[in-house]
Amino acid sequence: MLRSGSLQSWCSGMSDLQKTPSANTGAPPDHGRRRVLAGLGLLVATPLLSPFARARGFDDPFTLGVAAGDPLADGMVLWTRLAPQPLAADGLGGLREAVPVRWSVATDPGMAQVVQRGVATAHPRWGHSVHVEVSGLQPGRPYWYRFEALGAQSPLGCARTAPAPGSLAEARFGFVSCSHWEQGYFSAYRHLAAEQPDLVFFLGDYIYEYSIKGEAAAQVVRPHGSGDCLDLAGYRNRYALYRTDPDLQALHATAACVATWDDHEVQNDYANRWSQDPKIPTAQFLRRRAAAYQAMYEHFPLRAQHRPRGANMRLYRALDYGALARFFVLDGRQYRNEQPCILPNGWRGGHVSAADCTDIDDPSRSMLGAAQERWLHAGFARSSARWNVIAQDLLVAPLVQRDPKDGHLGHWTDGWDGYPATRERMLRAIADSKLRNPVFWGGDIHSYWVTDLKADAADPQSQTLATEFVGSSVTSNGPPSEAIVQMLPNNPHVRYFEGRQRGYVSVSLSQARMETRLQAISERSDRLATVSTLKRFVVEDGRAGAVEA
Ligand code: FE
Ligand code: CA
Repeated sequence: MLRSGSLQSWCSGMSDLQKTPSANTGAPPDHGRRRVLAGLGLLVATPLLSPFARARGFDDPFTLGVAAGDPLADGMVLWTRLAPQPLAADGLGGLREAVPVRWSVATDPGMAQVVQRGVATAHPRWGHSVHVEVSGLQPGRPYWYRFEALGAQSPLGCARTAPAPGSLAEARFGFVSCSHWEQGYFSAYRHLAAEQPDLVFFLGDYIYEYSIKGEAAAQVVRPHGSGDCLDLAGYRNRYALYRTDPDLQALHATAACVATWDDHEVQNDYANRWSQDPKIPTAQFLRRRAAAYQAMYEHFPLRAQHRPRGANMRLYRALDYGALARFFVLDGRQYRNEQPCILPNGWRGGHVSAADCTDIDDPSRSMLGAAQERWLHAGFARSSARWNVIAQDLLVAPLVQRDPKDGHLGHWTDGWDGYPATRERMLRAIADSKLRNPVFWGGDIHSYWVTDLKADAADPQSQTLATEFVGSSVTSNGPPSEAIVQMLPNNPHVRYFEGRQRGYVSVSLSQARMETRLQAISERSDRLATVSTLKRFVVEDGRAGAVEA
Protein backbone atom coordinates (compact mmCIF):
# COMPACT_ATOMS: atom_id res chain seq x y z
CA MET A 1 0.00 0.00 0.00
CA LEU A 2 2.45 2.53 -1.22
CA ARG A 3 0.86 5.94 -1.14
CA SER A 4 1.83 9.12 -2.82
CA GLY A 5 3.67 11.16 -0.27
CA SER A 6 5.13 14.49 0.45
CA LEU A 7 8.39 15.60 -1.08
CA GLN A 8 8.96 18.12 1.67
CA SER A 9 12.23 17.76 3.42
CA TRP A 10 13.12 17.00 6.99
CA CYS A 11 16.30 16.26 8.85
CA SER A 12 18.21 19.13 7.29
CA GLY A 13 17.36 18.34 3.73
CA MET A 14 15.72 14.98 3.98
CA SER A 15 13.37 14.22 1.14
CA ASP A 16 12.07 10.95 -0.09
CA LEU A 17 8.87 9.39 -1.18
CA GLN A 18 7.23 9.22 2.22
CA LYS A 19 4.89 6.40 2.82
CA THR A 20 2.62 5.24 5.61
CA PRO A 21 2.89 2.54 8.22
CA SER A 22 0.72 -0.54 7.85
CA ALA A 23 1.02 -1.90 11.33
CA ASN A 24 -1.11 -4.90 12.09
CA THR A 25 -2.48 -3.43 15.30
CA GLY A 26 -6.15 -3.82 14.63
CA ALA A 27 -6.43 -0.09 15.30
CA PRO A 28 -8.54 1.95 12.92
CA PRO A 29 -6.62 3.65 10.14
CA ASP A 30 -5.39 7.01 11.20
CA HIS A 31 -5.92 9.03 8.04
CA GLY A 32 -6.35 12.42 9.67
CA ARG A 33 -3.12 12.17 11.61
CA ARG A 34 -1.29 10.85 8.57
CA ARG A 35 -2.47 13.85 6.60
CA VAL A 36 -0.97 16.10 9.25
CA LEU A 37 2.27 14.12 9.18
CA ALA A 38 2.30 14.38 5.39
CA GLY A 39 1.91 18.12 5.63
CA LEU A 40 4.92 18.23 7.90
CA GLY A 41 6.89 16.01 5.56
CA LEU A 42 6.95 13.40 8.30
CA LEU A 43 5.16 10.40 6.93
CA VAL A 44 6.75 7.14 7.82
CA ALA A 45 7.10 4.51 5.18
CA THR A 46 5.56 1.23 4.37
CA PRO A 47 8.39 -0.84 2.99
CA LEU A 48 8.37 -1.76 -0.64
CA LEU A 49 7.64 -5.46 -0.78
CA SER A 50 9.17 -7.20 -3.75
CA PRO A 51 6.90 -9.38 -5.91
CA PHE A 52 8.99 -12.30 -4.63
CA ALA A 53 8.15 -11.46 -1.03
CA ARG A 54 4.48 -10.96 -1.79
CA ALA A 55 4.31 -14.26 -3.64
CA ARG A 56 5.72 -16.01 -0.59
CA GLY A 57 3.10 -14.42 1.60
CA PHE A 58 5.43 -12.26 3.70
CA ASP A 59 3.94 -9.32 5.49
CA ASP A 60 5.84 -6.10 5.88
CA PRO A 61 8.56 -6.89 8.45
CA PHE A 62 9.29 -3.19 9.18
CA THR A 63 6.09 -2.38 11.07
CA LEU A 64 8.07 -0.84 13.96
CA GLY A 65 10.00 1.68 11.89
CA VAL A 66 13.66 2.59 12.29
CA ALA A 67 15.72 4.55 14.79
CA ALA A 68 19.23 5.84 15.40
CA GLY A 69 20.87 6.68 18.68
CA ASP A 70 23.83 7.48 20.91
CA PRO A 71 25.64 9.47 18.21
CA LEU A 72 29.39 9.93 18.30
CA ALA A 73 31.39 12.32 16.13
CA ASP A 74 32.12 9.44 13.75
CA GLY A 75 29.12 7.18 14.07
CA MET A 76 25.90 6.11 15.72
CA VAL A 77 23.76 3.06 16.37
CA LEU A 78 21.13 2.14 13.79
CA TRP A 79 18.12 0.16 14.91
CA THR A 80 15.21 -1.77 13.58
CA ARG A 81 13.27 -4.83 14.65
CA LEU A 82 11.64 -7.24 12.23
CA ALA A 83 8.03 -7.90 13.23
CA PRO A 84 5.65 -8.72 10.39
CA GLN A 85 3.04 -9.48 13.08
CA PRO A 86 4.11 -7.00 15.75
CA LEU A 87 1.66 -8.23 18.39
CA ALA A 88 2.02 -12.00 17.87
CA ALA A 89 1.18 -13.64 21.21
CA ASP A 90 4.60 -15.27 21.59
CA GLY A 91 6.36 -11.90 21.39
CA LEU A 92 8.40 -12.96 18.36
CA GLY A 93 6.67 -10.69 15.88
CA GLY A 94 5.62 -13.45 13.54
CA LEU A 95 9.14 -14.78 12.88
CA ARG A 96 11.02 -17.83 14.17
CA GLU A 97 14.34 -18.08 12.38
CA ALA A 98 17.32 -15.75 12.30
CA VAL A 99 17.08 -13.35 9.36
CA PRO A 100 19.89 -11.50 7.54
CA VAL A 101 19.26 -7.75 7.35
CA ARG A 102 21.14 -5.51 4.94
CA TRP A 103 21.75 -1.95 6.03
CA SER A 104 23.12 1.08 4.24
CA VAL A 105 24.05 4.63 5.19
CA ALA A 106 24.14 7.49 2.68
CA THR A 107 24.96 11.17 2.60
CA ASP A 108 21.78 11.99 0.68
CA PRO A 109 18.09 11.26 1.21
CA GLY A 110 17.86 9.57 -2.17
CA MET A 111 20.37 6.97 -0.89
CA ALA A 112 22.50 7.53 -4.03
CA GLN A 113 25.78 8.20 -2.18
CA VAL A 114 26.06 5.17 0.09
CA VAL A 115 29.11 5.48 2.36
CA GLN A 116 28.64 2.43 4.58
CA ARG A 117 26.82 -0.85 4.16
CA GLY A 118 26.74 -4.26 5.73
CA VAL A 119 24.68 -7.22 6.84
CA ALA A 120 23.47 -7.85 10.39
CA THR A 121 21.55 -10.79 11.76
CA ALA A 122 18.14 -10.34 13.33
CA HIS A 123 18.13 -13.14 15.87
CA PRO A 124 15.10 -14.55 17.71
CA ARG A 125 17.18 -14.47 20.94
CA TRP A 126 16.86 -10.66 20.78
CA GLY A 127 13.37 -10.50 19.30
CA HIS A 128 14.76 -10.00 15.77
CA SER A 129 16.07 -6.59 16.74
CA VAL A 130 19.10 -5.18 14.93
CA HIS A 131 21.66 -2.85 16.51
CA VAL A 132 24.29 -1.71 14.00
CA GLU A 133 27.20 0.32 15.38
CA VAL A 134 28.31 2.44 12.44
CA SER A 135 31.68 4.21 12.53
CA GLY A 136 33.86 6.07 10.05
CA LEU A 137 31.33 8.85 9.44
CA GLN A 138 31.93 12.60 9.30
CA PRO A 139 31.11 14.73 12.35
CA GLY A 140 28.15 17.08 12.67
CA ARG A 141 26.19 16.21 9.57
CA PRO A 142 23.03 14.29 8.67
CA TYR A 143 23.06 10.76 7.32
CA TRP A 144 20.24 8.72 5.86
CA TYR A 145 19.87 5.01 6.46
CA ARG A 146 17.70 2.09 5.46
CA PHE A 147 17.38 -1.66 6.01
CA GLU A 148 16.35 -4.50 3.71
CA ALA A 149 15.15 -7.94 4.77
CA LEU A 150 12.74 -10.63 3.61
CA GLY A 151 12.41 -8.92 0.26
CA ALA A 152 11.26 -5.67 1.81
CA GLN A 153 12.78 -2.25 2.34
CA SER A 154 12.44 -0.30 5.57
CA PRO A 155 11.35 3.29 5.92
CA LEU A 156 14.12 5.83 5.50
CA GLY A 157 15.68 7.22 8.67
CA CYS A 158 17.81 10.26 9.23
CA ALA A 159 20.17 11.16 12.06
CA ARG A 160 23.09 13.50 12.67
CA THR A 161 26.48 12.53 13.96
CA ALA A 162 27.76 14.46 16.98
CA PRO A 163 29.87 17.54 16.20
CA ALA A 164 33.64 17.22 16.00
CA PRO A 165 35.54 17.23 19.29
CA GLY A 166 36.17 20.87 20.16
CA SER A 167 33.22 22.16 18.16
CA LEU A 168 31.11 24.86 19.80
CA ALA A 169 28.55 24.94 17.01
CA GLU A 170 24.98 25.62 18.12
CA ALA A 171 22.65 22.67 18.47
CA ARG A 172 18.99 21.96 19.14
CA PHE A 173 17.63 19.26 21.40
CA GLY A 174 14.29 17.97 22.58
CA PHE A 175 13.35 15.98 25.65
CA VAL A 176 10.24 13.98 26.45
CA SER A 177 8.89 11.57 29.06
CA CYS A 178 5.78 9.73 30.15
CA SER A 179 3.83 8.65 27.09
CA HIS A 180 0.87 6.53 28.13
CA TRP A 181 -0.82 5.02 25.08
CA GLU A 182 -4.20 4.65 26.78
CA GLN A 183 -4.22 8.27 27.97
CA GLY A 184 -3.92 9.94 24.59
CA TYR A 185 -2.32 10.45 21.21
CA PHE A 186 1.36 11.16 20.77
CA SER A 187 0.99 14.61 19.20
CA ALA A 188 3.92 15.83 21.29
CA TYR A 189 6.17 13.40 19.40
CA ARG A 190 4.80 14.62 16.06
CA HIS A 191 5.40 18.27 16.87
CA LEU A 192 8.87 17.62 18.25
CA ALA A 193 9.71 15.74 15.02
CA ALA A 194 8.53 18.73 13.02
CA GLU A 195 11.07 20.89 14.85
CA GLN A 196 13.85 18.69 13.43
CA PRO A 197 16.00 18.60 16.56
CA ASP A 198 19.57 17.36 16.29
CA LEU A 199 19.06 14.91 19.13
CA VAL A 200 16.10 13.75 21.25
CA PHE A 201 16.23 12.53 24.85
CA PHE A 202 13.70 10.02 26.17
CA LEU A 203 13.76 10.41 29.95
CA GLY A 204 11.60 7.53 31.05
CA ASP A 205 8.10 6.07 31.10
CA TYR A 206 8.44 5.56 27.33
CA ILE A 207 5.96 2.71 27.85
CA TYR A 208 3.57 1.96 30.68
CA GLU A 209 3.60 -1.62 31.85
CA TYR A 210 0.06 -1.63 33.23
CA SER A 211 -3.32 -1.21 31.66
CA ILE A 212 -5.95 1.10 33.09
CA LYS A 213 -8.68 -0.85 34.86
CA GLY A 214 -11.70 -0.33 37.07
CA GLU A 215 -13.30 3.08 37.43
CA ALA A 216 -10.47 4.83 35.64
CA ALA A 217 -11.12 2.76 32.50
CA ALA A 218 -13.83 5.25 31.52
CA GLN A 219 -11.07 7.84 30.97
CA VAL A 220 -9.16 5.71 28.47
CA VAL A 221 -8.68 7.68 25.25
CA ARG A 222 -7.05 4.90 23.26
CA PRO A 223 -7.64 1.32 24.45
CA HIS A 224 -4.91 -1.14 23.60
CA GLY A 225 -6.74 -4.29 24.57
CA SER A 226 -3.85 -5.87 26.44
CA GLY A 227 -3.21 -6.28 30.14
CA ASP A 228 -0.16 -5.81 32.37
CA CYS A 229 3.31 -6.74 31.11
CA LEU A 230 4.76 -9.53 33.23
CA ASP A 231 7.05 -11.52 30.93
CA LEU A 232 9.26 -11.02 27.88
CA ALA A 233 6.42 -11.48 25.37
CA GLY A 234 4.33 -8.96 27.28
CA TYR A 235 7.02 -6.27 27.43
CA ARG A 236 8.07 -6.87 23.81
CA ASN A 237 4.53 -6.48 22.61
CA ARG A 238 4.00 -3.32 24.64
CA TYR A 239 7.06 -1.70 23.03
CA ALA A 240 5.93 -3.03 19.64
CA LEU A 241 2.47 -1.53 20.12
CA TYR A 242 3.94 1.88 20.98
CA ARG A 243 6.32 1.70 18.03
CA THR A 244 3.42 1.23 15.61
CA ASP A 245 2.29 4.77 16.47
CA PRO A 246 2.94 6.98 13.40
CA ASP A 247 3.89 10.05 15.46
CA LEU A 248 6.48 8.11 17.45
CA GLN A 249 7.80 6.44 14.28
CA ALA A 250 8.14 9.86 12.68
CA LEU A 251 10.17 11.19 15.60
CA HIS A 252 12.54 8.22 15.57
CA ALA A 253 12.98 8.47 11.78
CA THR A 254 13.78 12.18 12.05
CA ALA A 255 16.45 12.42 14.74
CA ALA A 256 18.87 10.31 16.72
CA CYS A 257 17.87 9.63 20.31
CA VAL A 258 19.37 8.99 23.72
CA ALA A 259 17.20 7.02 26.12
CA THR A 260 17.09 6.23 29.79
CA TRP A 261 14.29 4.72 31.79
CA ASP A 262 12.15 5.44 34.82
CA ASP A 263 9.90 3.00 36.66
CA HIS A 264 7.17 2.13 34.16
CA GLU A 265 9.60 0.42 31.83
CA VAL A 266 9.38 -2.28 34.52
CA GLN A 267 6.75 -1.52 37.20
CA ASN A 268 5.37 1.54 38.97
CA ASP A 269 7.70 2.79 41.74
CA TYR A 270 9.95 -0.27 41.71
CA ALA A 271 13.33 0.07 43.35
CA ASN A 272 16.21 -2.17 42.33
CA ARG A 273 15.09 -5.75 43.09
CA TRP A 274 12.00 -4.74 45.02
CA SER A 275 8.55 -4.65 43.53
CA GLN A 276 6.26 -2.03 45.05
CA ASP A 277 4.10 -4.99 46.11
CA PRO A 278 5.65 -6.60 49.21
CA LYS A 279 4.02 -9.92 48.37
CA ILE A 280 6.33 -10.36 45.35
CA PRO A 281 9.60 -12.08 46.36
CA THR A 282 12.76 -10.39 45.03
CA ALA A 283 13.80 -13.46 42.98
CA GLN A 284 10.46 -13.41 41.19
CA PHE A 285 10.67 -9.65 40.66
CA LEU A 286 14.18 -9.94 39.22
CA ARG A 287 12.87 -12.35 36.58
CA ARG A 288 10.31 -9.74 35.61
CA ARG A 289 12.98 -7.03 35.60
CA ALA A 290 15.18 -9.18 33.32
CA ALA A 291 12.34 -9.49 30.81
CA ALA A 292 11.60 -5.75 30.97
CA TYR A 293 15.25 -4.72 30.56
CA GLN A 294 15.73 -7.11 27.65
CA ALA A 295 12.69 -5.69 25.85
CA MET A 296 13.96 -2.16 26.48
CA TYR A 297 17.34 -3.03 24.97
CA GLU A 298 15.63 -4.69 22.00
CA HIS A 299 13.66 -1.55 21.17
CA PHE A 300 16.30 1.17 21.42
CA PRO A 301 19.38 1.96 19.36
CA LEU A 302 21.81 1.03 22.14
CA ARG A 303 25.38 -0.20 21.81
CA ALA A 304 26.32 -3.83 22.54
CA GLN A 305 27.95 -2.69 25.79
CA HIS A 306 24.43 -2.01 27.12
CA ARG A 307 23.09 -5.45 26.28
CA PRO A 308 21.51 -6.91 29.44
CA ARG A 309 22.96 -9.89 31.28
CA GLY A 310 20.13 -11.50 33.13
CA ALA A 311 18.44 -8.84 35.25
CA ASN A 312 21.38 -6.42 34.94
CA MET A 313 21.80 -3.78 32.27
CA ARG A 314 24.33 -0.98 32.39
CA LEU A 315 22.43 2.00 31.01
CA TYR A 316 24.13 5.01 32.58
CA ARG A 317 26.65 6.65 30.29
CA ALA A 318 28.05 9.97 29.09
CA LEU A 319 27.95 11.45 25.59
CA ASP A 320 29.89 14.41 24.25
CA TYR A 321 28.39 16.87 21.81
CA GLY A 322 31.54 18.59 20.60
CA ALA A 323 32.91 20.89 23.28
CA LEU A 324 29.46 22.43 23.62
CA ALA A 325 27.83 19.85 25.86
CA ARG A 326 28.48 16.70 27.79
CA PHE A 327 25.41 14.64 28.64
CA PHE A 328 25.43 12.51 31.77
CA VAL A 329 22.62 9.99 31.31
CA LEU A 330 21.59 8.48 34.64
CA ASP A 331 19.82 5.31 35.78
CA GLY A 332 17.67 6.21 38.79
CA ARG A 333 16.08 2.79 39.31
CA GLN A 334 18.38 -0.22 38.99
CA TYR A 335 20.77 0.43 41.88
CA ARG A 336 18.69 2.35 44.42
CA ASN A 337 18.02 1.39 47.98
CA GLU A 338 14.43 0.73 48.89
CA GLN A 339 12.34 3.86 49.35
CA PRO A 340 12.64 5.12 52.94
CA CYS A 341 10.05 4.54 55.62
CA ILE A 342 8.07 1.75 54.02
CA LEU A 343 4.43 2.04 55.07
CA PRO A 344 3.16 -0.26 57.85
CA ASN A 345 1.31 -2.38 55.27
CA GLY A 346 4.66 -3.01 53.54
CA TRP A 347 3.71 -1.13 50.37
CA ARG A 348 6.92 0.17 48.84
CA GLY A 349 5.48 2.70 46.39
CA GLY A 350 6.09 6.41 46.81
CA HIS A 351 4.27 8.32 49.55
CA VAL A 352 4.68 11.60 51.40
CA SER A 353 7.03 10.80 54.27
CA ALA A 354 5.88 11.26 57.83
CA ALA A 355 7.68 13.61 60.24
CA ASP A 356 9.20 10.66 62.10
CA CYS A 357 10.84 9.21 58.97
CA THR A 358 14.49 9.24 59.95
CA ASP A 359 16.01 6.81 57.44
CA ILE A 360 15.29 9.40 54.73
CA ASP A 361 18.48 11.17 55.85
CA ASP A 362 20.60 8.03 56.26
CA PRO A 363 23.75 8.84 54.23
CA SER A 364 24.36 5.17 53.45
CA ARG A 365 21.22 5.06 51.33
CA SER A 366 21.71 5.81 47.64
CA MET A 367 19.49 6.48 44.69
CA LEU A 368 22.18 5.83 42.08
CA GLY A 369 24.26 3.19 43.84
CA ALA A 370 27.85 3.72 44.90
CA ALA A 371 29.43 2.83 41.54
CA GLN A 372 27.22 5.18 39.53
CA GLU A 373 27.77 7.98 42.06
CA ARG A 374 31.56 7.56 41.78
CA TRP A 375 31.35 7.50 37.97
CA LEU A 376 29.20 10.64 37.94
CA HIS A 377 31.36 12.64 40.33
CA ALA A 378 34.53 11.62 38.47
CA GLY A 379 32.86 12.65 35.22
CA PHE A 380 32.07 16.08 36.67
CA ALA A 381 35.71 16.48 37.67
CA ARG A 382 36.97 15.60 34.18
CA SER A 383 34.45 17.48 32.04
CA SER A 384 35.67 20.46 30.06
CA ALA A 385 32.37 20.96 28.22
CA ARG A 386 30.76 24.39 28.11
CA TRP A 387 27.41 22.93 29.27
CA ASN A 388 26.95 19.83 31.39
CA VAL A 389 23.49 18.32 31.13
CA ILE A 390 22.39 15.64 33.55
CA ALA A 391 19.64 13.77 31.68
CA GLN A 392 17.67 11.63 34.10
CA ASP A 393 14.22 10.49 35.08
CA LEU A 394 13.00 12.53 38.07
CA LEU A 395 12.46 15.97 39.60
CA VAL A 396 15.71 16.75 41.42
CA ALA A 397 14.68 19.82 43.44
CA PRO A 398 13.44 19.25 46.98
CA LEU A 399 9.75 19.79 47.42
CA VAL A 400 7.83 20.18 50.64
CA GLN A 401 4.37 18.79 50.04
CA ARG A 402 1.26 17.87 51.93
CA ASP A 403 0.03 14.31 52.30
CA PRO A 404 -3.36 14.26 50.56
CA LYS A 405 -4.72 11.86 53.19
CA ASP A 406 -3.88 13.52 56.50
CA GLY A 407 -2.44 16.88 55.46
CA HIS A 408 0.99 16.46 57.11
CA LEU A 409 4.00 18.07 55.44
CA GLY A 410 6.73 15.84 54.08
CA HIS A 411 8.68 14.67 51.04
CA TRP A 412 7.76 12.26 48.24
CA THR A 413 9.76 9.13 48.92
CA ASP A 414 10.04 7.68 45.40
CA GLY A 415 11.94 10.62 43.89
CA TRP A 416 15.15 12.46 44.79
CA ASP A 417 13.42 13.64 47.96
CA GLY A 418 13.55 10.05 49.19
CA TYR A 419 17.34 10.07 48.74
CA PRO A 420 18.51 13.53 49.84
CA ALA A 421 22.02 12.32 50.76
CA THR A 422 22.63 11.24 47.15
CA ARG A 423 21.45 14.65 45.97
CA GLU A 424 23.68 16.46 48.45
CA ARG A 425 26.72 14.44 47.37
CA MET A 426 25.93 15.17 43.72
CA LEU A 427 25.52 18.90 44.25
CA ARG A 428 28.68 19.02 46.36
CA ALA A 429 30.56 17.25 43.55
CA ILE A 430 29.25 19.88 41.13
CA ALA A 431 30.44 22.67 43.40
CA ASP A 432 33.81 21.05 44.19
CA SER A 433 34.59 20.38 40.51
CA LYS A 434 33.41 23.89 39.51
CA LEU A 435 31.41 22.13 36.82
CA ARG A 436 30.58 24.61 34.09
CA ASN A 437 26.89 25.30 33.50
CA PRO A 438 25.24 22.26 35.09
CA VAL A 439 21.66 21.76 33.93
CA PHE A 440 19.31 18.94 34.95
CA TRP A 441 16.62 17.57 32.65
CA GLY A 442 13.95 15.29 34.06
CA GLY A 443 10.48 13.75 33.83
CA ASP A 444 8.24 11.44 35.88
CA ILE A 445 6.14 14.08 37.60
CA HIS A 446 3.90 14.83 34.59
CA SER A 447 4.25 18.59 34.93
CA TYR A 448 6.58 21.39 33.88
CA TRP A 449 9.07 22.61 36.47
CA VAL A 450 11.86 25.14 36.37
CA THR A 451 13.86 25.19 39.58
CA ASP A 452 17.04 26.49 41.16
CA LEU A 453 19.17 23.78 42.78
CA LYS A 454 20.65 25.41 45.88
CA ALA A 455 23.94 24.82 47.68
CA ASP A 456 21.92 24.50 50.89
CA ALA A 457 18.45 23.08 50.33
CA ALA A 458 17.32 24.62 53.64
CA ASP A 459 18.47 28.12 52.74
CA PRO A 460 16.69 29.82 49.82
CA GLN A 461 19.35 32.59 49.94
CA SER A 462 22.20 30.16 49.33
CA GLN A 463 24.02 29.97 46.02
CA THR A 464 22.20 28.48 43.03
CA LEU A 465 24.49 25.67 41.85
CA ALA A 466 22.50 24.29 38.94
CA THR A 467 19.40 24.86 36.85
CA GLU A 468 16.61 22.33 36.41
CA PHE A 469 13.93 21.81 33.76
CA VAL A 470 11.29 19.07 33.95
CA GLY A 471 9.15 18.42 30.91
CA SER A 472 5.54 17.50 31.68
CA SER A 473 4.29 14.31 30.01
CA VAL A 474 3.53 13.35 26.44
CA THR A 475 0.10 12.10 27.54
CA SER A 476 0.14 10.86 31.15
CA ASN A 477 -2.26 12.32 33.73
CA GLY A 478 -1.03 15.44 35.47
CA PRO A 479 -0.56 15.68 39.26
CA PRO A 480 -3.04 17.40 41.62
CA SER A 481 -2.16 20.82 40.30
CA GLU A 482 -4.08 22.98 42.77
CA ALA A 483 -2.50 21.23 45.76
CA ILE A 484 0.98 21.82 44.35
CA VAL A 485 0.26 25.47 43.56
CA GLN A 486 -0.74 25.96 47.21
CA MET A 487 2.61 24.54 48.29
CA LEU A 488 4.75 26.77 46.07
CA PRO A 489 5.20 29.53 48.71
CA ASN A 490 6.95 26.86 50.83
CA ASN A 491 9.26 26.11 47.89
CA PRO A 492 10.76 29.44 46.79
CA HIS A 493 13.43 27.76 44.66
CA VAL A 494 10.67 26.73 42.22
CA ARG A 495 10.67 29.33 39.47
CA TYR A 496 7.85 27.86 37.44
CA PHE A 497 5.28 25.08 37.72
CA GLU A 498 2.49 24.03 35.37
CA GLY A 499 0.64 20.75 35.85
CA ARG A 500 -2.34 20.99 33.52
CA GLN A 501 -0.60 20.81 30.16
CA ARG A 502 0.93 17.92 28.22
CA GLY A 503 3.85 18.28 25.83
CA TYR A 504 7.62 18.33 25.51
CA VAL A 505 10.63 20.61 25.84
CA SER A 506 12.79 22.17 23.10
CA VAL A 507 16.28 23.47 23.79
CA SER A 508 18.52 25.68 21.63
CA LEU A 509 22.07 25.67 22.88
CA SER A 510 24.96 27.98 22.01
CA GLN A 511 28.21 28.88 23.77
CA ALA A 512 26.55 31.87 25.35
CA ARG A 513 23.10 30.62 26.33
CA MET A 514 20.62 27.83 26.67
CA GLU A 515 17.16 28.76 25.50
CA THR A 516 14.41 26.41 26.66
CA ARG A 517 10.87 26.37 25.33
CA LEU A 518 8.14 24.52 27.22
CA GLN A 519 5.92 23.24 24.41
CA ALA A 520 2.29 22.30 25.12
CA ILE A 521 -0.11 20.40 22.91
CA SER A 522 -3.72 21.55 22.68
CA GLU A 523 -5.46 18.30 23.74
CA ARG A 524 -4.13 14.81 24.28
CA SER A 525 -7.39 13.14 23.21
CA ASP A 526 -7.21 14.92 19.83
CA ARG A 527 -5.02 12.99 17.44
CA LEU A 528 -4.56 16.20 15.43
CA ALA A 529 -3.64 18.37 18.43
CA THR A 530 -1.82 21.64 17.77
CA VAL A 531 1.18 22.98 19.68
CA SER A 532 2.05 26.27 21.34
CA THR A 533 4.86 27.64 23.48
CA LEU A 534 3.85 27.88 27.13
CA LYS A 535 6.99 29.61 28.40
CA ARG A 536 10.51 30.42 27.30
CA PHE A 537 13.49 30.47 29.66
CA VAL A 538 17.12 31.41 29.19
CA VAL A 539 20.19 30.31 31.09
CA GLU A 540 23.27 32.44 30.40
CA ASP A 541 26.76 30.95 30.33
CA GLY A 542 28.29 31.22 33.79
CA ARG A 543 25.07 32.07 35.63
CA ALA A 544 23.02 29.22 37.10
CA GLY A 545 19.28 29.79 37.29
CA ALA A 546 16.76 30.18 34.48
CA VAL A 547 15.28 33.56 33.62
CA GLU A 548 11.98 33.85 31.82
CA ALA A 549 12.55 35.25 28.33
FE1 FE B 1 5.18 8.75 34.08
CA1 CA C 1 7.64 7.50 36.71
